[in-house]
Amino acid sequence: MNTRDTLKINEKGHLEIGGADCVELAKHFGTPLYVFDEAYIRRMMRTYQDTIDEEYDRNGLVLYASKAFSCEAIYAIAKQEGIGVDVVSGGELYTAMRAGFPAEKITMHGNNKLPREIAYAMECGVGTIVIDEYSEADLLDAEAAKRGVVQNVLIRVNPGVEAHTHAYVQTATPDSKFGFSIGSGAAAAITKYVLGKKHLRLKGYHCHIGSQIFEKQSFVLAVEKDLAFMADVKKSLGFEAEVLNMGGGFGIWYTDEDEKIDAEGYRGYLRALLSAVKSGCAAHGLKLPFVNIEPGRSVVGEAGITLYTVGAIKDIPGIRKYLAVDGGMFDNPRFALYQSKYTAVLANRADEKPAEIVAIAGKCCESGDLIGTEFNLPKANLGDIVAVLSTGAYNYSMASNYNRNFIPAAVLVKDGKAEYIVKPQTYEDLVRNDVIPDRLR
Ligand SMILES: *Cc1c(COP(=O)(O)O)cnc(C)c1O
Repeated sequence: MNTRDTLKINEKGHLEIGGADCVELAKHFGTPLYVFDEAYIRRMMRTYQDTIDEEYDRNGLVLYASKAFSCEAIYAIAKQEGIGVDVVSGGELYTAMRAGFPAEKITMHGNNKLPREIAYAMECGVGTIVIDEYSEADLLDAEAAKRGVVQNVLIRVNPGVEAHTHAYVQTATPDSKFGFSIGSGAAAAITKYVLGKKHLRLKGYHCHIGSQIFEKQSFVLAVEKDLAFMADVKKSLGFEAEVLNMGGGFGIWYTDEDEKIDAEGYRGYLRALLSAVKSGCAAHGLKLPFVNIEPGRSVVGEAGITLYTVGAIKDIPGIRKYLAVDGGMFDNPRFALYQSKYTAVLANRADEKPAEIVAIAGKCCESGDLIGTEFNLPKANLGDIVAVLSTGAYNYSMASNYNRNFIPAAVLVKDGKAEYIVKPQTYEDLVRNDVIPDRLR
């Protein structure tokens, strides 16, 4: 188990997160429940920003990639920590604005930003918008002209480095819905196009090579390619980029197949990136750009767990044993989507030795509704509390009301005390937007 400072087993043999007993949390708030350790989130945000401040002369800003976990409280925390955020939809932007997040520290992404999202972003005064298509440059320029403003923009480039968890490949002709290929000349062409837009101020480039990546070298290689491209553009178009946004994607621990990286380890990843920026700029005669990084998963992933109650146990002799819990693909679709692996613990008997391999199934009407198939647990009983670890990223944010189940509430733990940051849903919430046309009555 990955204990770090977030998870502990207490003298009762119960799992604790951030000093709160998970059995008590389950009793008090009910299950299923998302639980987040505030200290972990703050430590990660601070570590990244401190590293930029110390190693790169304060010439950069961390942007928390809020699609990993978006609710008002997370933007409030990011605001207190003095970092920026990135958003990928009008809904994420609205949530950040409701939390009082400073718009100038927001970067907006998306491969198909809607006209109304672009208008809303400019109405809010979003600091930076990342261009992902020609038509979008046109839309942005027109909207900025209408408002009599000049919008800061980056162009999303694709350096042709395809990263995998433990490896990377370079592809000459990248097939991706994101960004403009550097290798094909597309990135240089859109640069020229955007430079011709009167109401857009091109600040530089953005690239994001993937997610759940452990291979430092793939990040470094992407930065090297970005800088070589920036040098080419300086030569050919006379445009010197002031900003380089290096994206997110650092891997986290889900199971013991993954590395365990602590805050110092993540500092090492960022240090490698920053040193690649410095040496690349020196080699190409570029001035040092203002940098962004956009970590999402590594900020909130290991900060969060999900608590469930075992409600049914189905043992199919010689085949498989299923523990059915009160959640499932509606609160964590990642196994159904990508066969993602997790680690689980019986939170009320966390000090007992694992005794059997079981599958954890959800309560949806779907055979593929599983949290996973290979959890090593003590022999479970009805009513046991299951904690699934590292569920802080891409769980709540990907949750749905499938089967009209409630999206679970989320609580934030600080110094052993938990408070709601997302309240539980009610039946009323589920039918709030339903309409029966008169002719059906
Ligand atoms: C998803 C995403 C991120 C965050 O990736 P993580 O793997 O969660 O760190 C950053 N930037 C962009 C553009 C993204 O789409």
